[in-house]
Amino acid sequence: MSVLSIRNLRKSFGGVHAVDGVSFDVDKGEFLALIGPNGAGKSTCFNMINGQIMPDSGDILLGERRINGLPPRKVWRQGVGRTFQIAATFASMTVAENVQMALISHADELFSMFSVAARRHRERAIALLEQVGMAAAADRACRELAYGDVKRVELAVALANEPRLLLMDEPTAGMAPKERNELIALVKSLVVERGISVLFTEHSMDVVFAFADRIIVLARGRLIADGDARAIRENPKVQEVYFGTGKTFERAKEGA
Ligand code: ADP
Ligand code: MG
Repeated sequence: MSVLSIRNLRKSFGGVHAVDGVSFDVDKGEFLALIGPNGAGKSTCFNMINGQIMPDSGDILLGERRINGLPPRKVWRQGVGRTFQIAATFASMTVAENVQMALISHADELFSMFSVAARRHRERAIALLEQVGMAAAADRACRELAYGDVKRVELAVALANEPRLLLMDEPTAGMAPKERNELIALVKSLVVERGISVLFTEHSMDVVFAFADRIIVLARGRLIADGDARAIRENPKVQEVYFGTGKTFERAKEGA
């Protein structure tokens, strides 16, 4: 069953066809990577799905519901979470308070942080922080955390919203390879147990090939390939857009 269906989506900026007739589905519980060279149109796709950019044409269906044109807040309310690209945490608040805020917001209880409702959510916030390995830092201010730890808190914040689909545009940007692997492994383990679907972009092919259930490849606004790691690795069209003819992923990796 599809959680998200994209049908013939288009968006131009001036003369640039950033997204040029893209269609794909994300299945329930699927961990789907959207890859492609810089400027391929990945972020434009994400921003149309989350409501930040209005498509020129095409459809975005969340389950049965057409969501194109809905503002970001409403898309979020429909269960589309998004994380890591924007600073999702408040630096001056503690780790636990950040997650509590998200829980309160999800429950639509717009009281202050010090209300009874907020205290009720503390236990749930700590439970979520335990799952991302950050419970010990619950009462520290987010500004004191290392970069990779902030990302773990952001993940807890995203999960507090109980999304059915999580969008992650370059979640591991700025992280070292070992940290990248750990973060994506953590995301995957937590979404699998919740049945959440994930659509993500990622520069590291090692990470994509290790974790994605399926990979779709965008080049110049068009989908050029769709398959598992092996099919994508061996796809000549994919190799061409990434590396020019004659090179393979292995050789490109050595050069990186
Ligand atoms: P990717 O995320 O795959 O690197 P983008 O979706 O950011 O690609 O960009 C796709 C194309 O659209 C690029 O040519 C980019 O320069 C252009 N583009 C993206 N956003 C804008 C914008 N707001 N205004 C003008 N051009 C844009
Ligand atoms: Mg991008």
